[in-house]
Amino acid sequence: MAATPHVIVVGAGIIGASIAWHLARDGARVTVVAEDNGGVATPCSFAWINASWGNPEFYYRFRHRSMAEWKRLAGELPGLPLSWCGSISWDLPPDRLDAYVTEHGAWGYGIERIDRAEISAREPHLTDIPDQALAVAEEGAVEPVAAARMLLADAEARGASIVTAAVRGLIRTGERISGVVTSAGVIEADHVVLAAGAGSAPLTATIGIALPIETPAGLIVHSRPHPARLNGLVMADELHMRQTAEGRIIAGSDFGGTAPGEDQHATAAALFDKIRRNLSDVPSLAMDFFTVGYRPTPKDGFPIIGNACDGLYIAVMHSGVTLAPLAGMLVAAEILRGETDPMLASFRLSRFA
Ligand SMILES: Cc1cc2nc3c(=O)[nH]c(=O)nc-3n(C[C@H](O)[C@H](O)[C@H](O)COP(=O)(O)OP(=O)(O)OC[C@H]3O[C@@H](n4cnc5c(N)ncnc54)[C@H](O)[C@@H]3O)c2cc1C
Repeated sequence: MAATPHVIVVGAGIIGASIAWHLARDGARVTVVAEDNGGVATPCSFAWINASWGNPEFYYRFRHRSMAEWKRLAGELPGLPLSWCGSISWDLPPDRLDAYVTEHGAWGYGIERIDRAEISAREPHLTDIPDQALAVAEEGAVEPVAAARMLLADAEARGASIVTAAVRGLIRTGERISGVVTSAGVIEADHVVLAAGAGSAPLTATIGIALPIETPAGLIVHSRPHPARLNGLVMADELHMRQTAEGRIIAGSDFGGTAPGEDQHATAAALFDKIRRNLSDVPSLAMDFFTVGYRPTPKDGFPIIGNACDGLYIAVMHSGVTLAPLAGMLVAAEILRGETDPMLASFRLSRFA
């Protein structure tokens, strides 16, 4: 292998961008190959950064660590469009909210109970205030496409090449993957990283490796930019919403989006009506557009991060917006320096064997 290894990263969503940036920062020669600049699932994301309920402790700890890595990354790349706005949630029945506080509180999550008066003090434009909710000050959000593009631009400034092309296949030399065949020609490298989201499985299939990934659809509505009506993330029953850096109120029936149903336009209109009913002082709030994204989700819900075979590394996950900075940092350390973080043991492809 060359003294400065050449690494191809397939994918320019939030995961490919973070991996490319960390590889470039750590001294690799990087070529990003993707059909777009900013991703496919990434522009359709709700982009909540969290380690919230519903996950076992090992995965909670991985997510929580990545929340801290966003702060580290913001220090290294000032201007990333992050907002540590905190969340308020009441999207579970009372007994499950209690279990969430007890469990995550014991794990060290910054979670507190707040009452009706405190909820309306924090979010004065909510019309339907519950008696109690949970608040997590350390959660936040990022504008994911802008963040991915910033990471790619900075990787480029550090010497990375960005190639806009489709990858059609992988080149095998003996037992090793040694490059990619693209619509713009052949590119050879010491390592290939597949961070191609839902597009990863068709590529590994060409060399006989099955990636167990599902791609559930999620619809998110986006308002036109509007003066501030939300201060943080609001996770109400059947309505998760936040206001973006541009002033758009975006929402799904949960953060993973609403099932689009047979008539996506009707689903989006009904969801948007729900936003309007749940906020006061929004006479001019209007829907601008909605997205339907396909969430690249490994079948057991946890990330796939690691070598699939010699020369080929895979990084495919849901909650990629939360996990991007940690995944990028650990992938670069493992590929370039052979440093394997113990947490990665839970996320290898071999668990599906
Ligand atoms: C509705 C919805 C809500 C979500 N909410 C959250 C949330 O609140 N919090 C959170 O953490 N996560 C959330 N997620 C998940 C998160 O958005 C994804 O995990 C993340 O965006 C995946 O990023 P990625 O870079 O892996 O994939 P993508 O953004 O899909 O990018 C894939 C890249 O690979 C490229 N590519 C694919 N195939 C090829 C090929 N053959 N040749 C060349 N290029 C190729 C594409 O062009 C693209 O650049 C949500 C997702 C959706 C859809």
